[in-house]
Amino acid sequence: MSADPNCIFCKIVAGQIPALRVFEDDGTLAFLDIGPLAEGHMLVVPKEHYARVEDMPPDRMAALARHFPRFVRAVTRVTSAEGCNLLLNNERVAGQEVPHVHWHVIPRSAADGLGFRWKPTKYATGRGEVVQQLVKDALL
Ligand code: AMP
Ligand code: ZN
Repeated sequence: MSADPNCIFCKIVAGQIPALRVFEDDGTLAFLDIGPLAEGHMLVVPKEHYARVEDMPPDRMAALARHFPRFVRAVTRVTSAEGCNLLLNNERVAGQEVPHVHWHVIPRSAADGLGFRWKPTKYATGRGEVVQQLVKDALL
């Protein structure tokens, strides 16, 4: 898999459209999000075009993910953030607008007002074990 000529992040990788790039190596590019939820909000993308996580070879994902400790340390330090969210929206139903795998690194502070919209639920009695088995079987 290489570049998709219609993909905005492939165009950024190729240098065809500008971005505030902060890091790159052979396979990974990080740049500032054009619509930041907080100052320093950055995106981390594989240089090759993969639309979804499950399209990525595991070693490519591992090569990208190894940078996260350093990215988080740098971005929280320069923004004086108290923490950050690492977020990946996979598929449109999950909020993915750009179909090229990308991790968000979003600096957070107590007063940022971003909050969390997700509300945890509970499994009905026995349902957790059913789901546990389904997932275990699917992983075989
Ligand atoms: P998602 O909803 O997870 O697909 O996130 C897509 C993100 O890409 C959004 O946060 C956008 O602000 C960001 N984005 C879209 N176009 C650009 C661009 N040209 N440069 C930087 N970030 C972009
Ligand atoms: Zn792409």
